[in-house]
Amino acid sequence: MALRRCSMDLHIHTVLSPCAEVEMIPELIILQAQRSGLDMIAVCDHNAAENAGACITAACGSTVKVLAGIECESREGVHVLGIFDRAENALQLQDFIWSRLPAEPNRPEFFGAQMVVDASGEFIRFNDRMLAASADASVEELVQRIREADGLPLPAHVNKTHAGLLGVLGLMPEGLDVPAVEVFLPPGSDAQTLAKLRTTFSQLETLKCIRSSDAHRLEEIGQSRSFVWVESRSVGELELAFDGRLGRSLEELC
Ligand SMILES: [Zn+2]
Ligand SMILES: [Zn+2]
Repeated sequence: MALRRCSMDLHIHTVLSPCAEVEMIPELIILQAQRSGLDMIAVCDHNAAENAGACITAACGSTVKVLAGIECESREGVHVLGIFDRAENALQLQDFIWSRLPAEPNRPEFFGAQMVVDASGEFIRFNDRMLAASADASVEELVQRIREADGLPLPAHVNKTHAGLLGVLGLMPEGLDVPAVEVFLPPGSDAQTLAKLRTTFSQLETLKCIRSSDAHRLEEIGQSRSFVWVESRSVGELELAFDGRLGRSLEELC
């Protein structure tokens, strides 16, 4: 099979995230991803994956491949994305996260509603659990659990002082098993912006960096993206691309 250049945005929230707009329903997310020329997206809600399957279903017959994800929050308040081929695997991680979240109900008036929907966006139920919270698990344990569920662990917006691994901890834990990290760069950034960031955080020098939108509104989808050369759109191929193996590669900033 030939390699193809794939445009991806691996960090998109749905209406299950309390902070996302009500327009973030599967059908509209796929439509917007397709319009903005994305080939692959991952749906990552805070500490939950209940809308991932609906988004995969909504993408059937479209040009967009959807991966199932979760944006987990560690004990230290650090966000880590877990990206999976199948919703079942993301739900496996969700079970673990929920076993470590505080047993508190959501406060929708303060944090926002958390809605489980079907592929066309029809309301199914509210998730009443407090999802905007830290799980009682270290960054290392989250990474290990994501790996055990056959996922790809990607620390999110690492340079942000709010919930970014480097911004919060100031360093990468030694030996952390991640193939790449997501960096936050403002729109219009170029290779020089990334080089500058690498001088601020020297640990980024040896790490592959991807960009994603962290979209909470439709118009944000694809505003930041990365490109990979892969044979097919899967977690295994992404790992090869991040490692630069078998001809696969990541284009860091274009
Ligand atoms: Zn985050
Ligand atoms: Zn996010």
